[in-house]
Amino acid sequence: MVSRVIPVDDFDLVIFGGTGDLARRKILPGLFRRFRSGQMPEGSRIIGAARGDLDRAAYQDTIRKAIEEFVPKGARSKEDVAGFLELLDFVKIDATGEGGWKELADMLRPGVVRAFYFSVAPSLFGALAERLHGHACAGPSCRIVVEKPFGRDLESAKALNKTLRDHFDESQIYRIDHYLGKETVQNLMAVRFGNVLFEPLWNAQFIDHVQITVAESVGVEGRGAYYDKSGAMRDMVQNHLMQLLCLTAMEPPSRFDPDAVRDEKLKVIRALDDLSPEDIVRGQYVSEKSGDNYLDVVDDPDSRTESFIAMKLSVSNWRWAGVPFYLRTGKRMKARQSEIAVVFKDAPHSIFGQEQGKHRNVLAIRLQPNEGMDLFVTIKEPGPGGMRLVDVPLDMTFADALGPDAEDVPDAYERLIMDVIRGNQTLFMRGDEVEAAWAWTDPLIEGWTERGEKPYTYDTGSSGPEEAAILMHSEGRRWRDITG
Ligand code: NAP
Repeated sequence: MVSRVIPVDDFDLVIFGGTGDLARRKILPGLFRRFRSGQMPEGSRIIGAARGDLDRAAYQDTIRKAIEEFVPKGARSKEDVAGFLELLDFVKIDATGEGGWKELADMLRPGVVRAFYFSVAPSLFGALAERLHGHACAGPSCRIVVEKPFGRDLESAKALNKTLRDHFDESQIYRIDHYLGKETVQNLMAVRFGNVLFEPLWNAQFIDHVQITVAESVGVEGRGAYYDKSGAMRDMVQNHLMQLLCLTAMEPPSRFDPDAVRDEKLKVIRALDDLSPEDIVRGQYVSEKSGDNYLDVVDDPDSRTESFIAMKLSVSNWRWAGVPFYLRTGKRMKARQSEIAVVFKDAPHSIFGQEQGKHRNVLAIRLQPNEGMDLFVTIKEPGPGGMRLVDVPLDMTFADALGPDAEDVPDAYERLIMDVIRGNQTLFMRGDEVEAAWAWTDPLIEGWTERGEKPYTYDTGSSGPEEAAILMHSEGRRWRDITG
């Protein structure tokens, strides 16, 4: 298959926090892979900015080490790394001070795409924005990239949005949710809106329920202090799972353009019903055997923050009336697995007698591991012995279908950064989406806090608390297995 990599335009990308964890682990290795694929033109420049006492050579060395650590050996050659490092520069800047800004302004070139990645704490966004304008670095065509957390509640999200919008137009702000950069997530839109097969069935008449699972096998060790102030609801549901829900439930946009897509996603969030306490199960992991307990890795031994949450949501509109959306996410679960499963209803009448109700079509959209899709269909079990039915997956794993090209699929960060350079906001969250998600989330958090609810416990390495299974069983449904 002929490579379809189309280089982006030349750009200057300034990464504030260019020596931090996110920059070293994700942003720069991702840019390196795009450079290697031929997508990043040699006329581009990446300028790291931080307070550290580094010069250009020392920064290049830092990033060379990061690439060696985070890009597998087989995916880098010495020549490629050297070529990439040539594009790097560094400027010493304190977001809250005045030094370094003139040097930065002098480095930036006219006539190329200009983007600023705010890979620093959100409390620094305002100071950065003010200085970028004060030193004439930012014009109306530049872009800024910001990372979660986009606030911790509606009030702080509004304040953060205001800070950004005081300095930049919404069309210049790229809020990254890396789940939206995943190949399968975009494929969900391609499958829904590029085929006639699915959309006619994509409603309450044919769909029994939807399950969205983001299970992590890691715990919160190392970031217990941060996580305990957040919990699964703020850390995962308000952003990542909400975005997956929106893409599954939204109406077809009129065009695949940023505002058309984001308008439809926003309508889904606004159509979410309030939940009652019985619709939510929260948990904390414990392990008597290994001593791997949530409460031991956070500061507060009586913490009521959840490391797991399962919930049943309803989208109040004609398409989804009566169709539950079950969401669950947690730390230290059985395996790392993220998927959206659309479970269709039984056939209205079975000509196969007792087989009625045993077989259901399921469209499983896997985000990790092995991005891909399976459509489970019911067929006759081969061989003699009468009409026995069996459910088999029609596997739509990209690597098999698309050949070697699929192996070079950019990871979520790479794709999203290239979209910033291209000026395409479709896969980025708009400020009103973020605020609508918090407006729905806040009362739920306030509710369980006011009621003083303690999370249930669940065994480390399990699928979550028993109560989460009951949430489904009580309605004759069951979660799909977490197999990793
Ligand atoms: P980090 O490892 O603590 O790095 C912070 C970076 O900011 C460093 O380069 C630091 O360098 C620089 N910095 C700190 N204060 C500064 C100042 N006053 N002026 C200029 N530069 C300053 O943090 P991180 O993990 O990379 O996270 C960066 C942002 O991304 C945070 O908002 C975080 O919430 C978000 N995020 C991170 C991840 C992740 O996987 N790490 C994931 C999602 C979101 P100096 O100290 O030398 O200035």
